[in-house]
Amino acid sequence: MELWQQMIRDSIHTVDQLVEKFEIDRKVAEQLDEFFQARINPYYFSLIRHKGDPIWRQCVPDREELFDFDAEEDPLMEDAMSPVPNITHRYPDRALFLVTSQCGLYCRFCTRKRKVGDYEKISMKGLESAFKYLEEHNEIRDVILSGGDPLMLTDAMLEKILQRLRKIPHIEIIRLGTKMPCVLPQRITSKLCNMLKKYHPIYCNTHFNHPWEITPESTKACEMLADAGIPVGNQMVIMKGVNDDPEVVKELVQKLLKIRVRPYYMYMADETKGANHFRTSVETGLKILEALRGHTSGLAVPHFVIDAPGGGGKIPLLPNYVLHHDEESIILRNYKGKIYSYKNYADKNNPEGFGRKNGRAKKSASQRVKKVKLPVLENAEN
Ligand code: SF4
Repeated sequence: MELWQQMIRDSIHTVDQLVEKFEIDRKVAEQLDEFFQARINPYYFSLIRHKGDPIWRQCVPDREELFDFDAEEDPLMEDAMSPVPNITHRYPDRALFLVTSQCGLYCRFCTRKRKVGDYEKISMKGLESAFKYLEEHNEIRDVILSGGDPLMLTDAMLEKILQRLRKIPHIEIIRLGTKMPCVLPQRITSKLCNMLKKYHPIYCNTHFNHPWEITPESTKACEMLADAGIPVGNQMVIMKGVNDDPEVVKELVQKLLKIRVRPYYMYMADETKGANHFRTSVETGLKILEALRGHTSGLAVPHFVIDAPGGGGKIPLLPNYVLHHDEESIILRNYKGKIYSYKNYADKNNPEGFGRKNGRAKKSASQRVKKVKLPVLENAEN
């Protein structure tokens, strides 16, 4: 048995352990166990510094989970967009392929609780019809292996899936959606990396939410993936009491870049049953983004999105940098609140714009962009 498998075995998961380790009332612990089981592996448990800290909140069951039974179990309508078991096909050229119900840690905020945990929740019998669907739909060029966590499969099982996918000529890209580099980095072994790199191009999206998750172990895991030629991106979720603070997110994204992980998405939390106590306002998200853009390297700034309820997909949000926009010009605010005017050029999309229509010579970029004083907007400088 490999070390990571032993660590899964040694995870905290029983009602007795919840009562003993976290002083949860037994009745509540039983209800929580019934609602969504716990799995806290020894590595992630070792990151907890004190009761209620950002690591604790992400993994220790909380009685608040029991208070919102009206909320949706499948807010993103993944099941409604599932043409065959184990596949969700929402976007035109890519598909989500659920290959296991197991994870290295059961995150209390998970939006896929209905699918995660018990072995029966995602049936391995569905794999064949999923492969068939992928073979028959040649518009799919990008497959995201998810679950659960695909790295909960053994190397041999995962390799069988990759081999089969690589036989489908229209599948250009394979992505692994895995939280293992963050929650159980011991899973990233040289054997795994050597196997994965036979099936390039492979990309990996992982999920760090807090700077305390960046440790020597997770650093090593991410560097091993990067050394195997696998670009690693991070998808984080803004959560109350975890990372709803611009300084925390700034530290996280800067540290991620240092371990060769590119901040990719920053999500608003989904409206998920049992996880609404994590939700924050959209304004909090915009404030975090505003504190990143311009204040740190653009490489560190993720796309801020809401995964639209009802299956609308990811919709990007930005603080309001455009103060006015017409055919002639666009008035913009920069990260310091200073205001600039950019002349809008004429082309087929904007025949009334500045430039060719007036027979004027094109100006250089530096001539076109100039700071303007607009009395009504003076306050925006603050
Ligand atoms: S690893 Fe992902 S799928 Fe598994 S419990 Fe956490 S958020 Fe849910």
